[in-house]
Amino acid sequence: MGEIRLQGIPASEGIAIGPAFVVVPEPLGLPRPSPESPEQEIARFEAAAQAAGASLIALRDRVRVTADEATAAIFDAHRMMLDDPMLRDGVRRRIQAGAAAEAALTATVDELAQMLAGMADERFAARAADVRDVGRRLLRALLGLPEAGFGSMPQPAIIVAHDLTPSDTASLDPGKALGFCTAAGGQASHTAILARTLGIPAVVGLGQAALGSIASGQQLALDGSRGLVLVDPQSGSRRSLEAESRRQQRRRADQLQAASKPAETADGVRVRVGANIGKLESARAAVQFGAEEIGLLRAEFLYLGSPRPPDEETQLAAYRAICETLEGRPLIVRTLDLGGDKPPSFLEFPHELNPFLGWRAIRVSLDHPQLFKTQLRAILRVGALYPVSIMFPMVNDLGELRRAKDLLGEAAEELRREGLAYAESHQVGIMVETPSAALLADQLAGECDFVSLGTNDLIQYTLAVDRTNERVARLFQPLHPAVLRSIRSVIEAVHAKGKWVGMCGEMAGMQPAIPILLGLGLDEFSMVPSAIPGVKWLMGRLSMTQAREIAERAVSLASPAEVEALVSRALANLAD
Ligand code: PEP
Ligand code: MG
Repeated sequence: MGEIRLQGIPASEGIAIGPAFVVVPEPLGLPRPSPESPEQEIARFEAAAQAAGASLIALRDRVRVTADEATAAIFDAHRMMLDDPMLRDGVRRRIQAGAAAEAALTATVDELAQMLAGMADERFAARAADVRDVGRRLLRALLGLPEAGFGSMPQPAIIVAHDLTPSDTASLDPGKALGFCTAAGGQASHTAILARTLGIPAVVGLGQAALGSIASGQQLALDGSRGLVLVDPQSGSRRSLEAESRRQQRRRADQLQAASKPAETADGVRVRVGANIGKLESARAAVQFGAEEIGLLRAEFLYLGSPRPPDEETQLAAYRAICETLEGRPLIVRTLDLGGDKPPSFLEFPHELNPFLGWRAIRVSLDHPQLFKTQLRAILRVGALYPVSIMFPMVNDLGELRRAKDLLGEAAEELRREGLAYAESHQVGIMVETPSAALLADQLAGECDFVSLGTNDLIQYTLAVDRTNERVARLFQPLHPAVLRSIRSVIEAVHAKGKWVGMCGEMAGMQPAIPILLGLGLDEFSMVPSAIPGVKWLMGRLSMTQAREIAERAVSLASPAEVEALVSRALANLAD
């Protein structure tokens, strides 16, 4: 048989070659023939819900270690779904009407998932997959089945599935799952994010027609960075992919070995490379992967799951533990970034039509000065002991920056009056995440010490592309000329005020963006810890002259595709 080439969406880089393992979804719902009494069925369901909750906590904690905080939060959201009154009431109602717990659960999950899938708001529609995932977990607990997984995989293989749930993906054993390809899914789906953070090569969005013809055991070759799957690869293609895979592995080993060295360009220009973290565990990973500083602590992850905001002492203890782990490396704590896709459980969050344009980040903090000041006091206090800076998220203009700084001043004054030790001198910065802040960067930089580009949001607001909506995921383009020009003008404006400018959006860890950002003069790059070794390696192979040339040409191009082509030509010839 001849080789068949399937083109999908690149979801997670890396090359995998091996037999296919086709996953046939097991049917949801195995009604028991004779239910016990409704009370007993409800008790069975409650026990299953408890077991499912415990397994989700374990899964979240595992993902925290294997991936990162933000990825692990997917499973906190799943835990919240377990307590959703619509799920619980639906199951109870059906059990009272005579159904066994399994049948009641299956029907309720179907109903909820269908309702979500039919909603016009894409964010809710995308949650249908999560509800089904939670439903399967509950059903397994009810049936006494072991955790979902691919334990039946006879040998290391490439998984082929219509779609993988986030739980499936998080449970993959990288020793056995050489990679996966799915018919459905997009680059920004939870499944793709998990694959990237776990380092499993993956291609998604291949379409059912293409994948339907693959049988278990058939040989596949998958190239995650190109979104390519070869079915029954010819020996020539196989050999060249094997050679490329060996080269990538060698390169990664070299990168890891050199990760603790300071970042420097080929012509000796020092650049600051830091990490983004959410909690203590990722601070450890940051140190391990060679972070010189923490460019972003997403402090809200210390709050999100708890029924009330942690008090000052709890926060102080959390920040101190992180600082101790960092062994003297500087830490930038971003103040509460609640709202958007991170509504906390301890604040009334009204339903909003556009949460990303709504009550979010600094807006919430300025409306809740007490909550805000409690955090500021904790940061100022830890700053008396360690090198800590403060950063405000989603500031739009000087009015917001001034009000935030006033509250910071009040917090410091309170601490002084109370005789508590606090940082009397510390840097205060802002994130540039909105077009407004980008346009006013000169004014804002005039009244703070540094600026960090939050490109995850800056891109979504500049291009008007919801960062969580899979349907427009292809339009979320960091290398879009409009984004590059915005970044360039911010860097120039901030430098003109004599301040430094960093980036803590995902873009700072993206290989194709590195030459451009270096060339535009970015001072600090902060990224997921695991991206650091690769970024330092790349910086070491680029001269500043080369980077400036690439950047200058990139901002003059008309489309992301042209920018990508320019950078990939430039990076193609880098020496190992
Ligand atoms: C950003 O928007 O780029 C950013 C780093 O903040 P978050 O991803 O937490 O919104
Ligand atoms: Mg942001």
